[in-house]
Parts: sequence; structure tokens; C-alpha cells
Amino acid sequence: MKHSLEIQPLSSWINTDGKPLIISGPCSAETEDQLVSTAHLLANTGKVHVLRAGIWKPRTRPGEFEGIGSIGLEWLKRAKEETGLLTATEVATAQHVKEAIDAGVDILWIGARSTANPFTVQEIADAIKASGKDIPVIVKNPVNPDLSLWIGALERVNGAGIKKIAAIHRGFSSYEKTAFRNEPMWDLAIQLKTIAPELPIINDPSHICGNRELIPYIAQKAMDMDMQGFIIESHIDPSVAWTDAKQQVTPAALAELLDNLSYRQPES
Ligand code: PEP
Ligand code: MN
Repeated sequence: MKHSLEIQPLSSWINTDGKPLIISGPCSAETEDQLVSTAHLLANTGKVHVLRAGIWKPRTRPGEFEGIGSIGLEWLKRAKEETGLLTATEVATAQHVKEAIDAGVDILWIGARSTANPFTVQEIADAIKASGKDIPVIVKNPVNPDLSLWIGALERVNGAGIKKIAAIHRGFSSYEKTAFRNEPMWDLAIQLKTIAPELPIINDPSHICGNRELIPYIAQKAMDMDMQGFIIESHIDPSVAWTDAKQQVTPAALAELLDNLSYRQPES
């Protein structure tokens, strides 16, 4: 498969001193205190570059918590001011893009359900172009194991003039019930790397595993495949998290997990 991606290296938009890029924070922003306290603990580890938090949550079925909404952008801004961490959130509509950019969010991500829908991705890409802002965009793999949809979404973002792009490997839905919430299907990440070697790939062990216990195993495998970083969900008290409680880790557990990983330092 060919692609038409023009890619700026990760190091041109974020300095990680040759270490893996670490994005972490709660699945969902729940309260101002939860988000800001988690951000302080993450920043204090000295290992995290970007604070993530879902403000608008895509839920598989209605009737559950669907995100705190726009007010959470103010909390992200406060967390950034107090900790110096960059911020990232998921956008799924043109309105989300506008509000996130206006609120000073540093990095946008496209979620797995959105990547599976070219109309949605195009709407997001058009809104980014309309903003005139050269904001980095990271694109999760689609829920289904379809490499073309993943690359197609990256191409649509690229078409909006964004070259600061990366892919997130978050695993794929499968009918078979296995130990994983989303099957890693590593071969799809390998194929993406073969097709677009310059494209940074960031691993999301939280959504692959669906539970905390398996995260170290998946994270080490991602490092062995030379992936360039992680997005890992963390919460000041995972046991009471409003979404994805089983897979979130405390900031202290995150630091320990990262300390135990071995990875190759890129040649300088
Ligand atoms: C998330 O990052 O919390 C999320 C909803 O992920 P995904 O799009 O991978 O399901
Ligand atoms: Mn989540």
C-alpha cells in the first residue's frame, strides 16, 4: 500500500530528550480537583510530557457518563498553568476542535470510533484547517482492524496541512473474547511502520489491556518494537474513576512501570 503522508519528526514538535514520549492522565476529566491533583502528581514524577483527559467521551451505549464537556477545558488550562505539562484531548466534531484550540489545548487526538468514520475525520480535518493552527494531531487506530482507514485518517489530517502527526496503537475489537479488551494485532502496527517508517507510533496499552495488570507486558512489547511513546491512563484514585476504572493506574504506579521498561535510546 502506498501513502501520501508528509511527516515532521516527533522531535520537531516535542522535546523528550531521546526518551519515549509519555502522555498520561485520566480517561475522563471528572472534577477540577481530580484533574488538577492528578496532573500535579504526574508532573512530580518528572517522567510525563503531556497531560491527557477526555472532555467529550464517546461511549459505546447511551446512558453512561458522556464527558464533563467544555468546562473541563478550563480545568486542563489550569493544570497546564500550574504544572507546565502540555495538554491533549480527544476531538470528534468541528465544534470540539474549535473549543479545544480556543482553550489552548496543545495536542488533539482522534479516537478509535472516529477514525473508523471518514466523514467525521474529514470534518475534524476541515475544522483544524479553518483554525489556521499548526497543532499536532495523533490518530488512534480504528476500532476495526483496517489499516486503510487508519492511514486514510492520517492522510485527511495531513490534507489539512498538519505534518505534526503520529499514530496511536490502541488495539482492535474482536469477536473472540481474549485476555485483552482490544486485541493488539501487532502485525497491523508493523505493517503501518513498514508503509510509513517516518510516522511515529505511540502505544496505548491501557485500551489494549482493559486492566492494569497486563499493561507492563504490552508496554515492554511496544518498546521492543521501537514505538516512540505511550498514552497511558492515570487517575489519582483509579478505584473510583467514572470511566475505565479497571485500566487506570496511579501516577506512582505509572512512574514504577516506566522505570521498569527497557528501551533503546535513539542514536543522536
Ligand atoms: C480514550 O482514550 O479514553 C478512548 C475513548 O479511547 P479509544 O478511542 O481508543 O476507545
Ligand atoms: Mn479510556
